[in-house]
Amino acid sequence: MKKLFDKLYKDSKESFDKILKDSLKKEKKMFIVTANPETLMKSEYDFELQKLLNDKNSILVPDGIAIVKASKMLGYDIKERIAGIDIATTLLEYGNDLKKKIYLFGAKQEVIDSMLLVLKDKYPNLEVVGATNGYEKDKDKIFASISKLEPDIVLVALGIPMQEKLIYKHLEKFKKGIFVGVGGSFDVISGHKNRAPKIFIKLNLEWLYRIIKEPSRLKRFYESNVKFMFRVRKYK
Ligand code: UDP
Repeated sequence: MKKLFDKLYKDSKESFDKILKDSLKKEKKMFIVTANPETLMKSEYDFELQKLLNDKNSILVPDGIAIVKASKMLGYDIKERIAGIDIATTLLEYGNDLKKKIYLFGAKQEVIDSMLLVLKDKYPNLEVVGATNGYEKDKDKIFASISKLEPDIVLVALGIPMQEKLIYKHLEKFKKGIFVGVGGSFDVISGHKNRAPKIFIKLNLEWLYRIIKEPSRLKRFYESNVKFMFRVRKYK
């Protein structure tokens, strides 16, 4: 796990946004993994996940204050957190500006339905080439067929590590496109769930808000974040 810190994107969110825009303009293929403690901890025993994280073409961004703090503890000069939902929103904006094609994959059908309304209203120049909920059985078949639609942006909201594994498995079939696993972002962008109030985000307490709203997340938080910080201390 330790060597994954070398791979993490260390510059500002602003500079990452520039890379996103440039890649969209130039139709570069890009696979972004929003790495949080859960991702890194799972990669210790999940070798498929470990392989995709270590792939030289996978771009890892620090998703979460715990990753930023841990990187600093280990001596890395890392600027800030880049959350999956921010990447998703930036891609919607740039995709709209540049009149690009998008595919949405994941979340419940009612969330997808609301996403389509939001996109039509707020990002009218984005061309939605397809949208599928994340509870269909044959996800491989669906994902493989997306390549024929040649989307410029593919947002996959299935949760870690299913979303990353699905993208990685089929990436070769695509000539272009920005691919990113965005977790629960569709739930928020569609309005089905609220994002944490700005003050929580500013104080780096978004994780706390999510636990308060959904106490069932506490176990997941302990399994990932708490154990992660102990592990990082050990490395130090
Ligand atoms: N999800 C899905 N199919 C599944 C399991 C989950 O589409 O088989 C969706 C779920 O509806 C939610 C997202 O994946 O929209 C995961 O959200 P979560 O908040 O757990 O992700 P996080 O942001 O914490 O990584």
